[in-house]
Amino acid sequence: MNRIKIGLLSICCLGGCFGCAEPVEPLTLHDNNNTPQTATLLSGFASTVKGQIDQPDDVDYYKFQTKNPNYVSVSLSMPDELNLDLALYDSLLHGIDSSSLGGHAAEHLVIQLPSPGRFLLKVKGLPGSYSTAGFYRLSVFLGDSSRIADGPHLQLGNPTRAAPITDSLANFLLIKDQYAMSYNSLLGEANWVAWQLNSSWQGETTRLNDFRSDTSLPLFWYRVSQNDILGTGYDRGHLCPSADRTTNSTDNSETFLMTNIVPQHPDNNQGPWSELENYCRELTLEGAELFVTAGGYGSNGNLAGGKIRIPANIWKIIVVTEPGTGLAGISLKTRVVAVDMPNAGGIRNSDWRSFRVSVDHLEEATGFDFLSNLDEALQSVLEAKVDGL
Ligand code: MN
Ligand code: MN
Repeated sequence: MNRIKIGLLSICCLGGCFGCAEPVEPLTLHDNNNTPQTATLLSGFASTVKGQIDQPDDVDYYKFQTKNPNYVSVSLSMPDELNLDLALYDSLLHGIDSSSLGGHAAEHLVIQLPSPGRFLLKVKGLPGSYSTAGFYRLSVFLGDSSRIADGPHLQLGNPTRAAPITDSLANFLLIKDQYAMSYNSLLGEANWVAWQLNSSWQGETTRLNDFRSDTSLPLFWYRVSQNDILGTGYDRGHLCPSADRTTNSTDNSETFLMTNIVPQHPDNNQGPWSELENYCRELTLEGAELFVTAGGYGSNGNLAGGKIRIPANIWKIIVVTEPGTGLAGISLKTRVVAVDMPNAGGIRNSDWRSFRVSVDHLEEATGFDFLSNLDEALQSVLEAKVDGL
């Protein structure tokens, strides 16, 4: 049984405008025990289909066609009693990508389609996982890939396969010219923020301090304001630092959006965290290009009546490259600096170097996959190292 909901124009702009609507063939549902139904799937729009895996061995297929080599973001959420997996195939049924997290965790795929053409999405229950009561929701977003493919910030990968679709409450991809992030509306903060840093991002603009809510979030989500953190004893701590974006006032102002801010203990923010931010900029003045990713994990309680998590730890990963070389310039010898700092008092005078860990440690702590665009062999070597310079 299925009910189809057609994406609305507003959803396009809430998730960031990814180009004009390109009519494509309908997203067609072929549920093997129900009448086929269709939903209109337009480029730049999210479409959500509600369906059921309501008997053992039930498999639902969704077909779609695209005329441009778009990227597609798919999110599959499900009720607690179901454990469903998601897979994407080309028209010859060659697997392109799949997601099979455990339990009822939502599955996400974000991928640049290899070519225009026909594709197939498959929703399948694990053995014994079906329900005649609960519905899953499958959201599909097709869009112009240029902002992901050409954008500088996600060259090393999308650590949580975040998707720019409003169903992705805990893992919403937000791409700005200045940085990219996965926003978690359930935590009131980013899962991670990623940005490129080189000397071309740095100029003479002085800090604007225009902390404000991020109105690019979907309409009905809570938008954190600076007053939620002011006066709590925590700093409004930047993930992408203000001083990393000083070429012009637009760039600097974007770092003051509250989606880029976490409640950060002053001893952390004004101590080793700030020292590490300075160190990164020093590296770029010596000619390096960095790919930086930062976020928090764990909980030291919350603010604003539960709307904002206070992370227990704040982490950062810095990959040091030769300018302009991107992924191709990363080798076994590439320097990777990872730190894991408690978001707590008593560390103001600590050296940032004393908090160095491996990327493996942060993958374990966060559940994210960093450097995921590097091949597995390279990832495993770089992620196991602890920086010692
Ligand atoms: Mn700071
Ligand atoms: Mn990894």
